Amino acid sequence: MNKYAVIGNPINHSLSPTIHAQFAKQVGLSMTYEKILAPLDGFTIAVKNFISAGALGFNITVPFKLEAFDLVDECTLNAKTSGAVNTIKVENGILYGENTDGTGLVNDLCNNLQQSIKGKDILILGAGGATQGILLPLLECQPERILVANRTKARSLKLASSYSEFGKVCGFGLDQIKAKPVDIIINATSASLDGKTPEIPPGVAAGALCYDLMYGKQTPFMQWARKNSALEVTDGLGMLVEQAASAFAFWHGKTPETKQILKFLRETID
Ligand code: NAP
Repeated sequence: MNKYAVIGNPINHSLSPTIHAQFAKQVGLSMTYEKILAPLDGFTIAVKNFISAGALGFNITVPFKLEAFDLVDECTLNAKTSGAVNTIKVENGILYGENTDGTGLVNDLCNNLQQSIKGKDILILGAGGATQGILLPLLECQPERILVANRTKARSLKLASSYSEFGKVCGFGLDQIKAKPVDIIINATSASLDGKTPEIPPGVAAGALCYDLMYGKQTPFMQWARKNSALEVTDGLGMLVEQAASAFAFWHGKTPETKQILKFLRETID
């Protein structure tokens, strides 16, 4: 049996097994896809055990994406630039790493939401692992510029300077954001997990597309955006499904159709 999994901590909430089971059915592939809870200090051992059991690939989620990057033998430019890996393929004992988060976001924005990124002014809130993963694929779509604003300013400054060879990226503190509208705001902070939203001037959302990487019908950031005249507001469920589709293609060489599973998940999750 072709063995795949998602490894993380926590992992119970993961929708990845449901998504990959639907993709496998679509293309007539026989595979298993399980959830593996790795202890916080036991990611490498969990990976070794899974490979010994015959794994052909696996996804990596919070908080192991940086450790996964250190573990791979080879990786794509996207994974290398971001320093984080969310998908590993195992072939003849070699571990190949990819980061599909950014492609997932771009595919959701461009294909599902019919948005253009070219020439747009984009504000990203947060400078953690998710921002590292989405910056290069966004820059490849040629936005006018990307502003990265983070609570810890030093982190966004460092991140912006390391991506400057790929396009116009500027780093700021969250407290430096001007009340001037932008085209797209992406909330890549984990504040929603604590029921919070980053404190930024309301004026920046007027007429913007506001995208929360976290998924759910009413995240605090989505509520804030609706209250502050955003043109369109969405969560990160589409990105989750699209990053899974890119991972599936990385493993199997076939890109699955995503609309059906996205519709199903939209109808079933809170
Ligand atoms: P991370 O590496 O832990 O980074 C967290 C970021 O959030 C940091 O920039 C941190 O700022 C900031 N932050 C945390 N609490 C904040 C608060 N109360 N106010 C302002 N800023 C705050 O996390 P991550 O891996 O980047 O994940 C970020 C989010 O993206 C999570 O909600 C995750 O679920 C989501 N995500 C979704 C998908 C998807 O497929 N939809 C994929 C990947 C990630 P400091 O640097 O100052 O600490």
